[in-house]
Amino acid sequence: MLESGLSNCTDRHAINAIPVKKVIAAITFVLWSVTVHANAPAEITVSVAPSAVKVEAELVTPTRSWSFRNAYAGSLGFAERITDFRAVDASGQNAGAKNIAPGEFRSDRDATRISYTVDLSTTNAADVPHISWLTSGRGFLLFADLIPRDIESLSADFKLPFGSMIESTISPDKKGRYQVLEPESAVFLVGPELRKTSDVISGMALDFVVSGTWPFKEKRAFDGATQIMKQYLALTRHRLPGKSSIMIAPFRLSPAATWKAETRGSTLMLVIDPDAQLNWVGQLRVIFTHELLHLWVPNALKLEGDYDWFFEGFTLYIALRTAVELRIIDFDEYLRTLAGVYDAYSSHPDDVSLIEASESRWTTSNTNVYVKGMLVAFLYDLKIRKESGGAAALADRYRELFDGRVAANANGNDAIISLLDSTPAMSGFAKLYVAGKTKIALEQLLPAYGLTLDTSGKKSQIRVNRDLDAEQKQLLRSLGYRG
Ligand SMILES: [Zn+2]
Repeated sequence: MLESGLSNCTDRHAINAIPVKKVIAAITFVLWSVTVHANAPAEITVSVAPSAVKVEAELVTPTRSWSFRNAYAGSLGFAERITDFRAVDASGQNAGAKNIAPGEFRSDRDATRISYTVDLSTTNAADVPHISWLTSGRGFLLFADLIPRDIESLSADFKLPFGSMIESTISPDKKGRYQVLEPESAVFLVGPELRKTSDVISGMALDFVVSGTWPFKEKRAFDGATQIMKQYLALTRHRLPGKSSIMIAPFRLSPAATWKAETRGSTLMLVIDPDAQLNWVGQLRVIFTHELLHLWVPNALKLEGDYDWFFEGFTLYIALRTAVELRIIDFDEYLRTLAGVYDAYSSHPDDVSLIEASESRWTTSNTNVYVKGMLVAFLYDLKIRKESGGAAALADRYRELFDGRVAANANGNDAIISLLDSTPAMSGFAKLYVAGKTKIALEQLLPAYGLTLDTSGKKSQIRVNRDLDAEQKQLLRSLGYRG
C-alpha cells in the first residue's frame, strides 16, 4: 500500500533571502564603498557533538542584537534550545549579552564575536524534518534555525567527531569551508557512514545521500529519482542550475508517521522511521514524485506571498499524474486516490477561499490547501483537456510558469491565477475556485467527462461510465484509461 503523503509533506515555500535587507545592504555598500567588508561573509565554526552543536561566529560588522528563528511550519520554541550565548567586543571583553525574549539576544556594547550552544537532543517527531536535530551524532543541521537571521552570508567550517561525515548541496572550498549565500536554505547532513551516489541528469547534478541501513537497493531508489527528475525537466523545461540532493536519515516517528519530508532550497530531506514496514522502492518513488517537484515549484520560482494551494495542492495532483505516466501507479489507483481525497474534502466545511486557506495553513487544521487544491487541479486538467480536444493539459501551464512570462517577485496568487485563466476556454476558472469560495461538487461535475462519483459505499469511488462518447473516451485515454 502506498501512502499518498497528504499529511507528510509540509514544505514551506522558498524563503526568499530577505530582499529588502539585501537591497539596503547593496545600497549601503555603494554609498560607503570605503567599508569594503560591508558585504563580507561572517566566519562561522560549527563544532558538532553527539546531540548538540557549538557555534562560534566572527562578525564582519560590530553588532549588539541577534535574532533566531523561533517558529516554522506550525512548530514553536526552537530558539529555546540555545544556551550559553556570549558576545565579545573587539578588545576581547565580554559585551554583556542577555536573552531578552525567545530567540532574541542583546548586548550592552557592540560585539564582534558571538558563541552559543544549541541542544539538538530533544527534537520531537512533530518538528522533524523542519528543524535541526541530532541523535547520536546523526542528523540534519539547518542554518535557518542555527544561525542568527541577521547574518545574511557566511563562510562555515565544521568540526566533526572522529569518523563522522558531512554532506550538503554546497561544495566545500579547498580549505574545507562552505560559502553560504543563503543561510535560510542551507542544509547539512552529518553522521557516520554517509553513502553517496552522484550523477548528472540531463545537465542537472543530483546527489543521493543515505544514512542508516535500509531494506532497499540504493541504486533502484536513485534510478527512480533520476526518472522523475527527467520528467520534471520535461514538464517545466527549466534546468535546475545548481546541484540538488536527496538525503535520507532515520528518525523515530511512529506511531504518528512512517516518514516525513521537506524540500528546502535544493535539498530533499527525508526522515523515515527505522522500524517502518514499507513497499520501499514504490513508496520512495511516490514520495519523490511530490518532493522533487518542489525543487522547481516553489523553490526555483521567485514568487511572493502564500500560494500554498498551488505549490502543495497542484503539486499533489501533478505528482499523481506523473506516477501514472511513469507507471508507478495505474489509472484505477489514480481515480481511487482522487475519490479518497474527495472524501477527505467533503468531511470538513469548505467556507474559506484557497487563498485564505493558504494564509492560515499553519494556524488552523484546515487541510484544503492540500485536498481542495488537488481537486481543483484535477478539475482544471479535465476541463482543459476537454475544451482543447485533448491538445492541452494542466501540464502546459508549468512550462509557461518557467518561460519568463511571470515576473520575479510577483505575487504568487495573482501570477498563477492569471496564468491558469489565460486561455479563453479556462477564463475565470481559477478566479472561481481559488480566489472565490466556490465549493466542489464532483457528483455534478464529473459526468461531463464520462465519470461518475459513487458515494454508496463506505468510501466514495470514481467510476468510468459505460457509454462513453468518442470525445470522453479520448479524454480519459489521455489520462491513462485503457478501456
Ligand atoms: Zn509538498
